[in-house]
Amino acid sequence: MALLAQAGAVAPAPAAAGPEPSAPEVRVVPPPSAPKDAPADPSAAVAPGGQDGSAPADAEAKPAGGPGEEPAGQPPAPAGPVSPDPLIRLPTEAKEVVLTIDDGPGPLTERFLAVLEAEEVPAVFFWLSGSRSLPLAAEVVRQGHQIGTHTVSHPRLLQLQPGEAAAQITESQAALEAAAGVPVRFFRPPYGEHDRQIREIAAARGMSTVLWTVDSRDWALADDPEQIVANVLQQVKPGALILIHERAQTLAVLPDLIRALREAGYTFIPLPEPDPLPRAVASDG
Ligand SMILES: [Zn+2]
Repeated sequence: MALLAQAGAVAPAPAAAGPEPSAPEVRVVPPPSAPKDAPADPSAAVAPGGQDGSAPADAEAKPAGGPGEEPAGQPPAPAGPVSPDPLIRLPTEAKEVVLTIDDGPGPLTERFLAVLEAEEVPAVFFWLSGSRSLPLAAEVVRQGHQIGTHTVSHPRLLQLQPGEAAAQITESQAALEAAAGVPVRFFRPPYGEHDRQIREIAAARGMSTVLWTVDSRDWALADDPEQIVANVLQQVKPGALILIHERAQTLAVLPDLIRALREAGYTFIPLPEPDPLPRAVASDG
């Protein structure tokens, strides 16, 4: 009986200690949508010098009655098209936030995982599929986290030919799905740069374009990591999507960040999976 159901099993939060396997945590929540335009994303995997993340975009999304509690363990099979509206904030007035971690996988990924496991916090990893192999993807999912694509190589998508941009999105999704063993339902464009065409490419593959509510600006704070925590606390609000990166300074303050948010009354939740559009609207070239 060594076989664990592929992603189909339901398991509660991962234990604090020990490498105990737990199935991907998937909660079914009303589909969020928050149409508005994106901020610039300074989340360069390479060199963030000079990039300036603008103020976080915010969108007034309708409260949808809060997240559902139903623990459905099964990931949505081959996803149909979803709404191309970008997600900037969850439509909830509950003090719930989503921790999103960009630009991995990298040398710090396992240490981020260790902190998240110890603190019992689910997170969403937006990974680049091209920079290295993805051996940790299945483990990330097994620990109850989610994986989204951040493209193959972190280009500015709007500067590419449409075919190249599409390839960045679809190839990375395929690579991450193969590595993780579950559908990848989330896409975060590098630098937050996107247009409707980009979002529709993702949506046609069942992925929601996920931006953020709170920019920690951690990439710029190697010398002042405590400011990362302060930045988040200043901007956090119910339903916030919090943007951090796999950086050393962020890892250093991650336990403080989690504690501070909890002390402020917030809990960490997974991203709700996007609902497929009604079939009539579907078009998948
Ligand atoms: Zn990035």
